[in-house]
Formats: sequence, C-alpha cells, structure tokens
Amino acid sequence: MKPRADLALLMLALHLSGVRVRPSPTDPTRLKHRPEHLPPHLLDGLRRHKADLLALLTAGPADVQPPGRCRWCGRARWWRPAGEAGGWTCGACHPPARPEAAEWARGR
Ligand SMILES: [Zn+2]
Repeated sequence: MKPRADLALLMLALHLSGVRVRPSPTDPTRLKHRPEHLPPHLLDGLRRHKADLLALLTAGPADVQPPGRCRWCGRARWWRPAGEAGGWTCGACHPPARPEAAEWARGR
C-alpha cells in the first residue's frame, strides 16, 4: 500500500472510531489523542504516521488554497491580509482597503 493511502486510511479509521488527534499544546512534536487508550492497531498507525499527521495538523489555514471562481462575479482573483492565516476574499467584489498589505492568489 502507498504511504499516502495508508495515512488516509488511518485518518478515516481514527475518525470512525471517534478518536480526536491534535498536536500537544506543550510540545508540538508530540501527538495528543482522545481517548487516551486506543486499540493497538490505531496506536501503531499513529506511531508510524506521527510525522505526517503532525505536518497535516499543524499546516493550518495558511496553506489553504483559494477557492475556484467567485460565485457572485465569476472571477478567480482572491486576496487575504498578507501573512495572516485568514480566508480568501474576492478582489472584485470586496477589494482590500490596503492593497499593499494584501496577498493575492488565483483560484483554480
Ligand atoms: Zn467576486
């Protein structure tokens, strides 16, 4: 099995088991999971995919891609405050108040 597919299956298994996983608030290199006691196959999967899971969980909204086209004007030019992990805003419908402080991206 490919590692990526393996990771996706693990995340699905965790989800279906009602397990919540997040980076430890005190040590971001560690995973916290709830409930604390997991079946061995889930625990094993968590150990094997720890690095990948941490990368996914800490990626955050800063890496979220802009949407495709604006549903109101049909354009695909988006902006958000530079350096902020906020959502994307349509540049035609809602131009930024301070264009110099905006980060632009094209929708796909
Ligand atoms: Zn628009």
